[in-house]
Amino acid sequence: MADISGLKNRGHSKADMEERRAAAEAFTGAALTEVARGGMDPEAASKNIENMIGTIQVPLGYAGPVHIEGANASGDFLVPLATTEGALLASISRGMSVMNDGGGVRARVFGDAMTRAPVFRVDDLDHCAKVMEWIDSHRAEIDDEVAKTTSHGKLTRIELFPDGRSLYMRLSYSTGDAMGMNMATIASEAVCRLVERETGAVMISVSGNMCSDKKPAAINMIEGRGKCVVAEARVPKDVVEKRLHATSAAITETNYRKNLVGSSMAGTLGANAHAANMVAALYIATGQDPAQVVGGSMTITTCEDLDGDLYICVRMPAVEVGTVGGGTRLPCQREALSMIGCLGDGKAAKLAEIVAATVLAGELSTLAAQAAGQLGSAHAKLGR
Ligand code: NAP
Repeated sequence: MADISGLKNRGHSKADMEERRAAAEAFTGAALTEVARGGMDPEAASKNIENMIGTIQVPLGYAGPVHIEGANASGDFLVPLATTEGALLASISRGMSVMNDGGGVRARVFGDAMTRAPVFRVDDLDHCAKVMEWIDSHRAEIDDEVAKTTSHGKLTRIELFPDGRSLYMRLSYSTGDAMGMNMATIASEAVCRLVERETGAVMISVSGNMCSDKKPAAINMIEGRGKCVVAEARVPKDVVEKRLHATSAAITETNYRKNLVGSSMAGTLGANAHAANMVAALYIATGQDPAQVVGGSMTITTCEDLDGDLYICVRMPAVEVGTVGGGTRLPCQREALSMIGCLGDGKAAKLAEIVAATVLAGELSTLAAQAAGQLGSAHAKLGR
């Protein structure tokens, strides 16, 4: 077996990384020349990864500009997107350009709550009821525990779900401009310790999966997680016909039979053409947690034919994004965030509206391509 002492190096300096990479090359037999080439300082990534050996490059491009009239995002945006899927950015850009011709996108954040749902073991139903009663009558003490762990996070809601000897406590937080998953987890753990001390319930996991993080879940579709965002556009009849080579009626029918009925037949959570494509590319570019593309995938896309004009809308119940913390600290991701004016304090709602506008553009373009029978040929031309 190869000498693996270098693999045990846990340091964050450049020399530590180089030693680890050399050991990884020796162990695996793979040359990591390209992995070594990226210039990211391992110290800058020390809160984002362990055992760092280099970087993986993902092509970065842009879609747009797109005109957005949102409550938080207002103006023309060139949206940074990182992907390996040919034709995607061209398609999103086409959707944006078509929507611009109709006056742009309107977007609003309607809900904002990051959730953590610990599960406790209780003795029996009687004990469960007593624990629930204690929680219901001690909100001020619970808020005090939260305040000891975070200055930006605020507990906004507690929901209790009893189930025999298990009790689930779904805690919702406003998390400022952070996506908030670390913040909510740390605060929830403190709340759990208080509940344990006062009631004798035993915390089995700080995440009892009713949160529900990184898993498609009906509770998030209905109640929302992170930001619940809606974006809409009305594209005039002549623009639809000239630019998309389709009619509003045909696009609306495609959306109905594909996104609404087809998704219902398949039992998907969400009903859309490919929302996860836009979400993934934007999340990777801007340092969001890529696993939370799951939340973005639960988008519902609706279309209506309004006297020949096309009305199109996306409802995204779980846009889990931040503009501080997590991967937004990394240098390339910071530059991508600054392309859309979304770096730092006071920008998370703006970013969420840009996410929804970008998803709307991708949905429009793909639905129109399918309505016009062009999807396969566009991919053949641009992506192969
Ligand atoms: P974080 O980087 O862990 O925390 C955000 C920090 O930013 C907090 O220390 C907060 O301070 C501070 N802050 C400064 N200005 C702020 C502002 N304007 N608004 C809000 N906070 C501000 O980030 P996070 O968003 O909580 O967690 C994201 C990370 O969690 C990602 O890396 C993600 O991959 C990871 N993650 C963790 C879990 C988990 O279960 N732990 C699950 C999924 C993902 P105060 O809190 O002191 O106010």
